[in-house]
Amino acid sequence: MTQDWTDFAQRLAPVDVIDEPVLVKKRSRDFFWFSPILNAQLKRSFGDLVARPTSVEELRHVLSEAYKADVPVTCRGGGTGNYGQAVPLNGGLIVETTGMNRVLEIGNGYVRAEAGALMKDVNAALIAEGWEMVMFPSTQDIATIGGFIAGGSAGIGSVANGPLREAGNIIELKALSVEAEPREHVVRGDDVMQLHHAWGLNGVLTEITLRTVPHRNWIGCMATFDSYRDCYAAGYDLAGVDTIGRKLASSVDARICDYFPRLKGHIRADKHLLVALVPAEDMEPFRTLITKHGGHLDLELTDAEREAKNIPHVFDFAYNHTTLQVLKADRTATYQQCSVKDPADADSVAEIGRALGDDVWQHHEFARFGGEVAAFDLPVIWFKSEERLREIDDIYRAHGFGVYDAHSFHVESGGLHSANYTHLAWKKRLDPKGLLNPGKSRAWDMVKHLSPEEIEAKALEEDQS
Ligand SMILES: Cc1cc2nc3c(=O)[nH]c(=O)nc-3n(C[C@H](O)[C@H](O)[C@H](O)COP(=O)(O)OP(=O)(O)OC[C@H]3O[C@@H](n4cnc5c(N)ncnc54)[C@H](O)[C@@H]3O)c2cc1C
Repeated sequence: MTQDWTDFAQRLAPVDVIDEPVLVKKRSRDFFWFSPILNAQLKRSFGDLVARPTSVEELRHVLSEAYKADVPVTCRGGGTGNYGQAVPLNGGLIVETTGMNRVLEIGNGYVRAEAGALMKDVNAALIAEGWEMVMFPSTQDIATIGGFIAGGSAGIGSVANGPLREAGNIIELKALSVEAEPREHVVRGDDVMQLHHAWGLNGVLTEITLRTVPHRNWIGCMATFDSYRDCYAAGYDLAGVDTIGRKLASSVDARICDYFPRLKGHIRADKHLLVALVPAEDMEPFRTLITKHGGHLDLELTDAEREAKNIPHVFDFAYNHTTLQVLKADRTATYQQCSVKDPADADSVAEIGRALGDDVWQHHEFARFGGEVAAFDLPVIWFKSEERLREIDDIYRAHGFGVYDAHSFHVESGGLHSANYTHLAWKKRLDPKGLLNPGKSRAWDMVKHLSPEEIEAKALEEDQS
Protein backbone atom coordinates (compact mmCIF):
# COMPACT_ATOMS: atom_id res chain seq x y z
CA MET A 1 0.00 0.00 0.00
CA THR A 2 1.41 3.43 -0.86
CA GLN A 3 1.47 5.86 2.00
CA ASP A 4 -0.56 9.06 1.76
CA TRP A 5 2.07 11.39 3.26
CA THR A 6 -0.26 14.38 3.55
CA ASP A 7 -2.65 12.30 5.57
CA PHE A 8 0.20 10.84 7.65
CA ALA A 9 1.63 14.32 8.33
CA GLN A 10 -1.78 15.38 9.65
CA ARG A 11 -1.86 12.41 11.99
CA LEU A 12 1.46 13.56 13.51
CA ALA A 13 -0.07 16.92 14.60
CA PRO A 14 0.76 18.88 16.70
CA VAL A 15 4.33 17.74 15.95
CA ASP A 16 6.17 20.04 13.53
CA VAL A 17 6.85 18.39 10.14
CA ILE A 18 8.82 19.26 7.01
CA ASP A 19 7.35 18.07 3.71
CA GLU A 20 9.08 20.42 1.27
CA PRO A 21 10.91 17.91 -1.02
CA VAL A 22 14.15 19.91 -1.22
CA LEU A 23 14.38 20.14 2.57
CA VAL A 24 13.45 16.48 3.06
CA LYS A 25 16.18 15.49 0.58
CA LYS A 26 18.70 17.65 2.43
CA ARG A 27 17.84 15.85 5.68
CA SER A 28 18.23 12.46 3.98
CA ARG A 29 21.97 12.92 3.61
CA ASP A 30 24.93 12.66 5.93
CA PHE A 31 28.68 12.62 5.26
CA PHE A 32 28.58 9.30 3.32
CA TRP A 33 30.12 11.21 0.42
CA PHE A 34 33.51 10.83 2.18
CA SER A 35 33.34 7.41 0.47
CA PRO A 36 32.96 7.31 -3.33
CA ILE A 37 31.55 3.80 -2.92
CA LEU A 38 28.84 4.87 -0.48
CA ASN A 39 28.21 8.00 -2.50
CA ALA A 40 27.29 5.91 -5.55
CA GLN A 41 25.08 3.64 -3.44
CA LEU A 42 23.27 6.22 -1.31
CA LYS A 43 23.04 9.50 -3.16
CA ARG A 44 19.55 8.71 -4.47
CA SER A 45 18.05 7.44 -1.19
CA PHE A 46 15.61 9.90 0.32
CA GLY A 47 12.97 9.97 3.03
CA ASP A 48 9.41 11.16 2.43
CA LEU A 49 8.68 13.33 5.45
CA VAL A 50 10.55 14.83 8.43
CA ALA A 51 9.06 15.02 11.95
CA ARG A 52 10.62 17.34 14.54
CA PRO A 53 9.41 16.41 18.01
CA THR A 54 10.36 18.77 20.83
CA SER A 55 9.56 16.48 23.77
CA VAL A 56 9.46 12.78 24.67
CA GLU A 57 5.65 12.93 24.55
CA GLU A 58 5.74 14.26 20.98
CA LEU A 59 8.29 11.60 20.02
CA ARG A 60 6.07 8.92 21.56
CA HIS A 61 3.15 10.10 19.42
CA VAL A 62 5.30 10.09 16.24
CA LEU A 63 6.58 6.55 16.87
CA SER A 64 3.11 5.25 17.68
CA GLU A 65 1.70 6.62 14.40
CA ALA A 66 4.65 5.20 12.45
CA TYR A 67 4.08 1.79 14.01
CA LYS A 68 0.37 1.81 13.20
CA ALA A 69 1.03 2.80 9.57
CA ASP A 70 4.09 0.50 9.09
CA VAL A 71 6.21 3.50 8.18
CA PRO A 72 10.04 3.12 8.23
CA VAL A 73 11.69 5.51 10.73
CA THR A 74 15.22 6.88 10.44
CA CYS A 75 16.50 8.97 13.36
CA ARG A 76 18.66 11.95 12.64
CA GLY A 77 20.66 14.22 14.93
CA GLY A 78 23.15 16.53 13.18
CA GLY A 79 23.56 14.20 10.18
CA THR A 80 27.37 14.05 10.48
CA GLY A 81 27.78 10.26 10.32
CA ASN A 82 30.25 8.96 7.74
CA TYR A 83 28.67 5.66 6.71
CA GLY A 84 25.20 6.76 5.64
CA GLN A 85 23.87 5.77 9.06
CA ALA A 86 21.20 8.48 8.87
CA VAL A 87 20.22 7.85 5.23
CA PRO A 88 16.75 6.28 4.81
CA LEU A 89 17.25 3.34 2.44
CA ASN A 90 13.53 2.58 2.11
CA GLY A 91 12.11 6.10 2.25
CA GLY A 92 9.70 6.82 5.11
CA LEU A 93 9.85 9.15 8.05
CA ILE A 94 12.96 10.97 9.25
CA VAL A 95 12.77 11.86 12.95
CA GLU A 96 15.01 14.86 13.57
CA THR A 97 15.83 15.07 17.26
CA THR A 98 17.43 18.52 17.46
CA GLY A 99 14.29 20.00 19.06
CA MET A 100 14.80 17.72 22.09
CA ASN A 101 17.89 19.54 23.23
CA ARG A 102 17.79 20.36 26.94
CA VAL A 103 20.71 19.78 29.27
CA LEU A 104 18.74 18.28 32.16
CA GLU A 105 21.20 17.81 35.00
CA ILE A 106 24.84 18.42 35.81
CA GLY A 107 26.05 16.48 38.83
CA ASN A 108 29.25 15.32 40.43
CA GLY A 109 30.98 13.49 37.54
CA TYR A 110 27.99 13.17 35.22
CA VAL A 111 25.72 15.02 32.81
CA ARG A 112 22.20 14.08 31.73
CA ALA A 113 20.87 15.57 28.50
CA GLU A 114 18.13 15.05 25.94
CA ALA A 115 19.29 13.11 22.89
CA GLY A 116 19.10 16.06 20.51
CA ALA A 117 21.34 18.39 22.55
CA LEU A 118 24.35 19.60 20.57
CA MET A 119 27.61 18.49 22.10
CA LYS A 120 29.07 21.96 22.02
CA ASP A 121 26.10 23.14 24.14
CA VAL A 122 26.55 20.26 26.59
CA ASN A 123 30.27 21.05 26.84
CA ALA A 124 29.59 24.78 27.33
CA ALA A 125 27.05 24.06 30.10
CA LEU A 126 29.55 21.71 31.78
CA ILE A 127 32.51 24.08 31.57
CA ALA A 128 30.43 26.79 33.26
CA GLU A 129 30.12 24.38 36.23
CA GLY A 130 33.80 23.30 36.22
CA TRP A 131 33.31 20.03 34.30
CA GLU A 132 33.84 18.77 30.75
CA MET A 133 32.77 15.79 28.63
CA VAL A 134 35.14 12.80 28.81
CA MET A 135 35.23 12.97 25.03
CA PHE A 136 33.46 14.57 22.09
CA PRO A 137 33.73 14.16 18.32
CA SER A 138 35.46 16.78 16.21
CA THR A 139 31.97 17.59 14.85
CA GLN A 140 30.77 18.88 18.23
CA ASP A 141 29.33 22.09 16.73
CA ILE A 142 26.61 20.25 14.76
CA ALA A 143 26.52 16.70 16.14
CA THR A 144 24.04 15.69 18.85
CA ILE A 145 24.78 13.70 21.96
CA GLY A 146 22.26 11.02 20.86
CA GLY A 147 23.81 10.81 17.39
CA PHE A 148 27.26 10.42 18.97
CA ILE A 149 26.07 7.55 21.18
CA ALA A 150 24.18 5.86 18.32
CA GLY A 151 26.68 6.52 15.53
CA GLY A 152 30.06 7.49 16.99
CA SER A 153 32.79 5.68 18.85
CA ALA A 154 35.61 7.89 20.15
CA GLY A 155 36.89 11.41 19.99
CA ILE A 156 38.78 14.24 21.60
CA GLY A 157 39.38 12.92 25.12
CA SER A 158 39.69 9.22 24.19
CA VAL A 159 43.47 9.44 24.60
CA ALA A 160 42.79 9.98 28.31
CA ASN A 161 39.40 8.38 28.93
CA GLY A 162 39.06 5.59 26.37
CA PRO A 163 36.39 5.20 23.71
CA LEU A 164 32.68 5.61 24.43
CA ARG A 165 32.40 1.86 25.03
CA GLU A 166 34.93 1.92 27.89
CA ALA A 167 33.12 0.88 31.09
CA GLY A 168 31.65 3.86 32.94
CA ASN A 169 31.76 6.39 30.09
CA ILE A 170 28.09 5.83 29.21
CA ILE A 171 26.21 5.73 32.52
CA GLU A 172 22.58 5.43 31.46
CA LEU A 173 20.49 5.54 28.28
CA LYS A 174 16.76 5.99 27.94
CA ALA A 175 15.10 4.86 24.72
CA LEU A 176 11.58 4.47 23.37
CA SER A 177 10.43 1.35 21.55
CA VAL A 178 8.50 1.57 18.28
CA GLU A 179 5.15 0.08 19.20
CA ALA A 180 1.49 1.14 19.27
CA GLU A 181 2.22 2.34 22.82
CA PRO A 182 5.98 3.10 22.79
CA ARG A 183 7.62 2.02 26.05
CA GLU A 184 10.53 3.69 27.77
CA HIS A 185 13.54 1.42 28.39
CA VAL A 186 16.13 2.56 30.92
CA VAL A 187 19.46 0.87 30.31
CA ARG A 188 22.59 0.85 32.52
CA GLY A 189 25.83 -1.13 32.92
CA ASP A 190 26.88 -3.53 30.14
CA ASP A 191 23.44 -3.30 28.53
CA VAL A 192 24.22 0.20 27.23
CA MET A 193 26.43 -1.53 24.63
CA GLN A 194 23.30 -2.88 22.92
CA LEU A 195 22.12 0.66 22.16
CA HIS A 196 25.52 2.30 21.69
CA HIS A 197 26.77 2.32 18.08
CA ALA A 198 23.51 0.64 17.03
CA TRP A 199 22.91 3.21 14.28
CA GLY A 200 19.36 3.91 15.46
CA LEU A 201 18.28 0.29 14.92
CA ASN A 202 17.64 -0.54 18.59
CA GLY A 203 15.09 1.99 19.83
CA VAL A 204 15.06 5.78 19.79
CA LEU A 205 17.31 7.39 22.40
CA THR A 206 15.63 10.10 24.42
CA GLU A 207 18.02 10.78 27.31
CA ILE A 208 21.74 10.20 27.74
CA THR A 209 23.76 10.24 30.98
CA LEU A 210 27.52 10.39 30.48
CA ARG A 211 30.52 10.49 32.79
CA THR A 212 32.25 13.86 33.03
CA VAL A 213 35.67 14.94 34.30
CA PRO A 214 36.88 18.17 35.95
CA HIS A 215 37.58 20.91 33.42
CA ARG A 216 41.22 21.81 32.73
CA ASN A 217 42.82 24.74 30.97
CA TRP A 218 43.74 23.02 27.70
CA ILE A 219 46.47 24.45 25.49
CA GLY A 220 46.15 23.71 21.75
CA CYS A 221 49.58 22.57 20.56
CA MET A 222 51.09 21.96 17.14
CA ALA A 223 54.57 20.46 16.86
CA THR A 224 56.39 19.60 13.63
CA PHE A 225 58.91 16.88 12.76
CA ASP A 226 61.23 15.96 9.88
CA SER A 227 60.05 12.35 9.70
CA TYR A 228 56.61 10.83 10.08
CA ARG A 229 58.15 8.08 12.17
CA ASP A 230 59.36 10.54 14.81
CA CYS A 231 56.08 12.45 14.76
CA TYR A 232 54.17 9.19 15.34
CA ALA A 233 56.62 8.16 18.10
CA ALA A 234 56.07 11.48 19.91
CA GLY A 235 52.28 10.96 19.68
CA TYR A 236 52.62 7.46 21.09
CA ASP A 237 54.85 8.70 23.90
CA LEU A 238 52.40 11.49 24.80
CA ALA A 239 49.47 9.04 24.80
CA GLY A 240 51.23 6.72 27.25
CA VAL A 241 53.07 9.04 29.61
CA ASP A 242 51.44 9.50 33.02
CA THR A 243 53.16 12.75 33.95
CA ILE A 244 51.56 14.84 31.19
CA GLY A 245 47.80 15.31 30.87
CA ARG A 246 46.44 15.09 27.31
CA LYS A 247 43.07 15.23 25.60
CA LEU A 248 44.22 14.82 22.02
CA ALA A 249 47.23 13.33 20.23
CA SER A 250 47.10 13.02 16.44
CA SER A 251 49.96 12.65 13.95
CA VAL A 252 49.48 13.90 10.39
CA ASP A 253 51.65 13.30 7.29
CA ALA A 254 53.25 16.49 5.91
CA ARG A 255 51.51 16.06 2.54
CA ILE A 256 48.12 16.31 4.28
CA CYS A 257 49.21 19.50 6.07
CA ASP A 258 49.59 21.12 2.65
CA TYR A 259 45.78 21.12 2.62
CA PHE A 260 45.58 23.23 5.81
CA PRO A 261 45.65 26.77 4.34
CA ARG A 262 44.63 28.37 7.66
CA LEU A 263 47.79 27.03 9.29
CA LYS A 264 50.10 28.50 6.63
CA GLY A 265 52.68 30.72 8.28
CA HIS A 266 51.82 29.30 11.72
CA ILE A 267 53.48 25.88 11.35
CA ARG A 268 56.71 24.95 9.55
CA ALA A 269 56.10 24.03 5.91
CA ASP A 270 56.68 20.47 4.58
CA LYS A 271 56.92 18.95 8.06
CA HIS A 272 54.90 16.22 9.74
CA LEU A 273 52.47 17.53 12.32
CA LEU A 274 51.58 16.43 15.85
CA VAL A 275 48.33 17.98 17.05
CA ALA A 276 47.75 17.87 20.81
CA LEU A 277 45.75 19.26 23.70
CA VAL A 278 47.83 19.52 26.88
CA PRO A 279 46.90 21.22 30.19
CA ALA A 280 48.68 24.53 30.89
CA GLU A 281 50.43 23.16 34.00
CA ASP A 282 52.04 20.30 31.98
CA MET A 283 53.51 22.39 29.15
CA GLU A 284 57.09 22.18 30.43
CA PRO A 285 57.37 18.35 30.34
CA PHE A 286 55.45 18.38 27.03
CA ARG A 287 58.06 20.71 25.49
CA THR A 288 60.78 18.33 26.71
CA LEU A 289 58.95 15.36 25.14
CA ILE A 290 58.77 17.12 21.76
CA THR A 291 62.48 18.01 21.86
CA LYS A 292 63.36 14.42 22.83
CA HIS A 293 61.74 13.22 19.60
CA GLY A 294 63.52 15.84 17.47
CA GLY A 295 60.42 17.99 17.02
CA HIS A 296 59.74 21.70 17.20
CA LEU A 297 56.77 23.22 19.04
CA ASP A 298 55.36 25.71 16.50
CA LEU A 299 52.17 26.70 18.31
CA GLU A 300 50.94 26.63 21.90
CA LEU A 301 47.77 28.64 22.36
CA THR A 302 45.01 29.10 24.89
CA ASP A 303 41.54 29.37 23.38
CA ALA A 304 41.58 33.16 23.75
CA GLU A 305 44.99 33.46 22.02
CA ARG A 306 43.85 31.13 19.23
CA GLU A 307 40.71 33.19 18.61
CA ALA A 308 42.74 36.43 18.59
CA LYS A 309 44.95 34.96 15.85
CA ASN A 310 41.93 33.59 13.92
CA ILE A 311 43.34 30.06 13.93
CA PRO A 312 40.90 27.12 13.94
CA HIS A 313 40.69 24.82 16.95
CA VAL A 314 43.25 21.98 17.01
CA PHE A 315 40.50 19.41 16.61
CA ASP A 316 39.72 20.87 13.17
CA PHE A 317 42.85 18.94 12.14
CA ALA A 318 42.10 15.69 13.97
CA TYR A 319 39.85 12.66 13.56
CA ASN A 320 37.80 12.92 10.37
CA HIS A 321 38.26 16.65 10.19
CA THR A 322 41.74 15.89 8.83
CA THR A 323 40.11 14.11 5.88
CA LEU A 324 37.53 16.89 5.56
CA GLN A 325 40.26 19.55 5.12
CA VAL A 326 41.59 17.60 2.12
CA LEU A 327 38.11 16.93 0.70
CA LYS A 328 37.35 20.66 0.80
CA ALA A 329 40.03 21.08 -1.88
CA ASP A 330 39.72 17.81 -3.80
CA ARG A 331 36.76 15.42 -3.80
CA THR A 332 38.84 12.53 -5.20
CA ALA A 333 40.26 11.88 -1.73
CA THR A 334 38.78 9.33 0.63
CA TYR A 335 39.94 7.44 3.73
CA GLN A 336 39.94 4.14 5.60
CA GLN A 337 39.94 3.08 9.28
CA CYS A 338 42.80 0.79 10.31
CA SER A 339 44.14 -0.38 13.64
CA VAL A 340 47.89 -0.50 14.33
CA LYS A 341 49.34 -3.93 15.12
CA ASP A 342 51.82 -2.84 17.77
CA PRO A 343 51.28 0.85 18.57
CA ALA A 344 54.67 1.04 20.34
CA ASP A 345 56.51 0.04 17.16
CA ALA A 346 57.01 3.31 15.24
CA ASP A 347 59.34 1.54 12.78
CA SER A 348 56.57 -0.79 11.63
CA VAL A 349 54.30 2.23 11.11
CA ALA A 350 57.01 3.82 8.93
CA GLU A 351 57.50 0.52 7.11
CA ILE A 352 53.81 0.11 6.23
CA GLY A 353 53.76 3.77 5.16
CA ARG A 354 56.39 2.88 2.53
CA ALA A 355 54.59 -0.32 1.49
CA LEU A 356 51.26 1.47 1.01
CA GLY A 357 52.55 3.73 -1.75
CA ASP A 358 52.19 7.37 -2.69
CA ASP A 359 48.39 7.35 -2.85
CA VAL A 360 48.05 6.69 0.91
CA TRP A 361 48.99 9.44 3.39
CA GLN A 362 49.08 8.40 7.02
CA HIS A 363 47.21 10.07 9.87
CA HIS A 364 47.10 8.40 13.28
CA GLU A 365 44.86 9.01 16.26
CA PHE A 366 46.02 7.83 19.68
CA ALA A 367 43.59 6.54 22.30
CA ARG A 368 43.64 4.41 25.42
CA PHE A 369 41.63 1.19 25.63
CA GLY A 370 41.50 -0.21 29.15
CA GLY A 371 44.52 1.94 30.02
CA GLU A 372 46.60 0.54 27.10
CA VAL A 373 47.69 2.91 24.35
CA ALA A 374 46.08 2.15 20.99
CA ALA A 375 46.62 3.86 17.66
CA PHE A 376 44.49 3.83 14.58
CA ASP A 377 45.22 5.09 11.12
CA LEU A 378 42.68 7.26 9.28
CA PRO A 379 44.79 7.69 6.13
CA VAL A 380 43.90 10.02 3.30
CA ILE A 381 43.64 7.81 0.21
CA TRP A 382 43.62 9.13 -3.33
CA PHE A 383 40.79 7.06 -4.76
CA LYS A 384 41.44 5.37 -8.09
CA SER A 385 39.11 2.37 -8.00
CA GLU A 386 37.48 0.00 -5.54
CA GLU A 387 40.06 -2.62 -6.59
CA ARG A 388 42.92 -0.36 -5.50
CA LEU A 389 41.11 0.47 -2.25
CA ARG A 390 40.75 -3.24 -1.46
CA GLU A 391 44.41 -3.79 -2.40
CA ILE A 392 45.30 -1.12 0.18
CA ASP A 393 43.13 -2.95 2.76
CA ASP A 394 45.06 -6.14 1.93
CA ILE A 395 48.42 -4.40 2.47
CA TYR A 396 47.26 -3.32 5.93
CA ARG A 397 46.08 -6.87 6.72
CA ALA A 398 49.28 -8.46 5.36
CA HIS A 399 51.22 -6.33 7.86
CA GLY A 400 48.95 -7.50 10.70
CA PHE A 401 46.98 -4.25 10.89
CA GLY A 402 43.15 -4.40 11.13
CA VAL A 403 40.71 -2.78 8.68
CA TYR A 404 37.32 -1.49 9.86
CA ASP A 405 35.67 -0.73 6.57
CA ALA A 406 34.52 2.87 6.25
CA HIS A 407 32.87 2.09 2.91
CA SER A 408 29.89 0.02 4.01
CA PHE A 409 26.45 1.08 5.30
CA HIS A 410 25.92 -2.17 7.23
CA VAL A 411 26.29 -1.99 11.00
CA GLU A 412 28.05 -5.36 10.96
CA SER A 413 30.84 -4.30 8.56
CA GLY A 414 32.48 -1.14 9.67
CA GLY A 415 32.96 0.91 12.78
CA LEU A 416 34.29 -0.59 15.93
CA HIS A 417 31.36 -2.81 16.79
CA SER A 418 29.76 -5.91 15.26
CA ALA A 419 26.09 -6.64 15.54
CA ASN A 420 25.47 -9.97 17.22
CA TYR A 421 22.52 -12.04 18.41
CA THR A 422 22.28 -10.21 21.73
CA HIS A 423 22.20 -6.96 19.80
CA LEU A 424 19.54 -8.30 17.44
CA ALA A 425 17.43 -9.56 20.37
CA TRP A 426 17.40 -6.01 21.71
CA LYS A 427 16.32 -4.79 18.31
CA LYS A 428 13.40 -7.22 18.30
CA ARG A 429 12.42 -6.04 21.79
CA LEU A 430 12.54 -2.32 20.95
CA ASP A 431 11.50 -2.50 17.31
CA PRO A 432 9.34 -5.63 16.80
CA LYS A 433 8.29 -4.70 13.25
CA GLY A 434 11.83 -3.77 12.16
CA LEU A 435 10.80 -0.23 11.18
CA LEU A 436 13.94 1.50 12.48
CA ASN A 437 16.54 2.30 9.81
CA PRO A 438 15.67 -0.74 7.62
CA GLY A 439 18.44 -2.20 5.47
CA LYS A 440 21.33 -1.22 7.77
CA SER A 441 21.70 -4.64 9.42
CA ARG A 442 22.64 -7.60 7.23
CA ALA A 443 21.78 -10.08 9.97
CA TRP A 444 18.28 -8.81 10.82
CA ASP A 445 16.49 -10.63 7.97
CA MET A 446 17.75 -13.98 9.29
CA VAL A 447 16.19 -13.49 12.74
CA LYS A 448 13.33 -11.03 12.40
CA HIS A 449 10.65 -13.79 12.54
CA LEU A 450 11.98 -15.03 15.93
CA SER A 451 11.11 -13.79 19.43
CA PRO A 452 13.74 -11.82 21.40
CA GLU A 453 14.28 -14.91 23.61
CA GLU A 454 14.82 -17.16 20.57
CA ILE A 455 17.30 -14.70 19.10
CA GLU A 456 19.12 -14.45 22.45
CA ALA A 457 19.27 -18.28 22.64
CA LYS A 458 21.30 -18.19 19.43
CA ALA A 459 23.82 -15.98 21.21
CA LEU A 460 24.12 -18.61 23.95
CA GLU A 461 24.51 -21.39 21.35
CA GLU A 462 27.28 -19.37 19.73
CA ASP A 463 29.05 -18.92 23.09
CA GLN A 464 28.91 -22.67 23.81
CA SER A 465 30.09 -23.81 20.36
C1 LIG B 1 34.37 15.72 9.75
C2 LIG B 1 33.86 14.61 10.64
C3 LIG B 1 34.51 14.35 11.82
C4 LIG B 1 34.06 13.32 12.67
N1 LIG B 1 34.72 13.07 13.83
C5 LIG B 1 34.28 12.06 14.63
C6 LIG B 1 34.94 11.78 15.86
O1 LIG B 1 35.85 12.49 16.28
N2 LIG B 1 34.50 10.72 16.57
C7 LIG B 1 33.42 9.97 16.19
O2 LIG B 1 33.05 9.01 16.88
N3 LIG B 1 32.76 10.24 15.06
C8 LIG B 1 33.15 11.27 14.28
N4 LIG B 1 32.47 11.55 13.14
C9 LIG B 1 31.23 10.86 12.86
C10 LIG B 1 30.02 11.66 13.47
O3 LIG B 1 30.26 13.00 13.53
C11 LIG B 1 29.74 11.28 14.87
O4 LIG B 1 29.37 9.95 14.91
C12 LIG B 1 28.62 12.17 15.45
O5 LIG B 1 28.67 12.15 16.81
C13 LIG B 1 27.23 11.82 14.97
O6 LIG B 1 26.30 12.70 15.57
P1 LIG B 1 25.07 13.25 14.74
O7 LIG B 1 24.15 13.98 15.68
O8 LIG B 1 25.50 14.00 13.56
O9 LIG B 1 24.39 11.88 14.32
P2 LIG B 1 23.66 11.48 12.97
O10 LIG B 1 24.64 11.44 11.85
O11 LIG B 1 22.47 12.33 12.76
O12 LIG B 1 23.21 10.00 13.33
C14 LIG B 1 24.16 8.99 13.53
C15 LIG B 1 23.41 7.67 13.75
O13 LIG B 1 22.72 7.74 14.99
C16 LIG B 1 21.33 7.52 14.80
N5 LIG B 1 20.63 8.40 15.74
C17 LIG B 1 20.66 9.75 15.82
N6 LIG B 1 19.92 10.17 16.85
C18 LIG B 1 19.39 9.07 17.44
C19 LIG B 1 18.53 8.84 18.55
N7 LIG B 1 18.03 9.84 19.29
N8 LIG B 1 18.20 7.56 18.84
C20 LIG B 1 18.67 6.51 18.13
N9 LIG B 1 19.48 6.68 17.07
C21 LIG B 1 19.84 7.94 16.73
C22 LIG B 1 21.05 7.83 13.34
O14 LIG B 1 19.94 7.10 12.85
C23 LIG B 1 22.34 7.37 12.70
O15 LIG B 1 22.27 5.99 12.48
C24 LIG B 1 32.91 12.56 12.29
C25 LIG B 1 32.25 12.85 11.10
C26 LIG B 1 32.70 13.88 10.29
C27 LIG B 1 31.95 14.18 9.02
